Amino acid sequence: MSATPILSSVDSPISGKLQLAIPPLLGASVAELTAWVQQHGQPAYRGKQLHDWIYHKGVRSLADISVFSKQWRAEVANIPIGRSTIHHRSVAPDGTVKYLLQLADRQIIEAVGIPSDKRLTVCVSTQVGCPMACDFCATGKGGYKRNLGRHEIVDQVLTVQEDFQQRVSHVVFMGMGEPLLNTENVLAALRSLNQDVGIGQRSLTVSTVGIRDRIRQLAQHHLQITLAVSLHAPNQALREQLIPSARPYPLEELLAECREYVEITGRRVTFEYVLLAGVNDLPQHALELAKCLRGFQSHVNLIPYNPIQEVDYKRPNSDRIQAFVKVLKQQQIAVSVRYSRGLEADAACGQLRANKKS
Ligand code: SAH
Repeated sequence: MSATPILSSVDSPISGKLQLAIPPLLGASVAELTAWVQQHGQPAYRGKQLHDWIYHKGVRSLADISVFSKQWRAEVANIPIGRSTIHHRSVAPDGTVKYLLQLADRQIIEAVGIPSDKRLTVCVSTQVGCPMACDFCATGKGGYKRNLGRHEIVDQVLTVQEDFQQRVSHVVFMGMGEPLLNTENVLAALRSLNQDVGIGQRSLTVSTVGIRDRIRQLAQHHLQITLAVSLHAPNQALREQLIPSARPYPLEELLAECREYVEITGRRVTFEYVLLAGVNDLPQHALELAKCLRGFQSHVNLIPYNPIQEVDYKRPNSDRIQAFVKVLKQQQIAVSVRYSRGLEADAACGQLRANKKS
């Protein structure tokens, strides 16, 4: 993963060098931070200290780093670290916590903390809103504002970690937004979560609805992360009905890219499949799905639909869900059912929708 320079300047035809807005420091590696302190006339070891204060002490302003001289702190006090503030927090009876986080430009995003046994999983957003407009997803109904920067993705993990006072063990990129429309920042955030925050690559999962060529491009990075692909239908006609972006990017092409991903990375792909009663949950759909995935190193994750207000899909009953599972198992397909946590906190898959009720 390539590093992004912290400071950048471009030639302006009018004034010569033009300093661009300073990107926040969060998301930068030790090497980048070391280069940055040196650019500011400080000795190299200050870079490591800065890294420790940002990632392990959770400092929010350079002015608060007490090991730095007062004079230098005053000089750099306005350079942002890039932390958000918690705008709202709601806790479900199962312990899942949903956060509305306010960003520097006052946009609101959602992050979810999901505790289980010894794990703490954070579900992070990658965009403010989402442009994909999948028919069953609340985020898509709220429209799209902008991509998140790498600091805004890493911040969500640090914020949940601090609030729980427990190390985050897993991160799933399954919040608001489509990660592969923001690949550069997502890759930078993955690097930082792995190397700066210290979360193993295998504990990082990126979920995508599939954007042409982007899965192949992701594979070239040879990461050990888990790729999850939102399939939701076993044939093109049904898929385009549920996912508008499937129209110009046929299922066959998506599956071919996923096969390449497996070949290149040696990692199996997880296929997510939201179960909508009477729409895609019949035994014939399960059979068709098994056919799509034949010869694939894959895993199917069934997500019983979480109701949202705008559409009247229904969650299938547990007999229907079990029948679907049975067909897949008979076809030798690895399958699990993900019953969403945090329904009460409105924090379940597909229910993230900032700015509305909290
Ligand atoms: N844009 C990414 C991340 C989206 S959220 C993607 O499409 O994969 C993660 C998962 O939740 C996706 O599989 C998404 O389709 C699913 N999801 C969305 N709305 C849902 C709902 N109402 N009930 C259950 N799952 C839903």
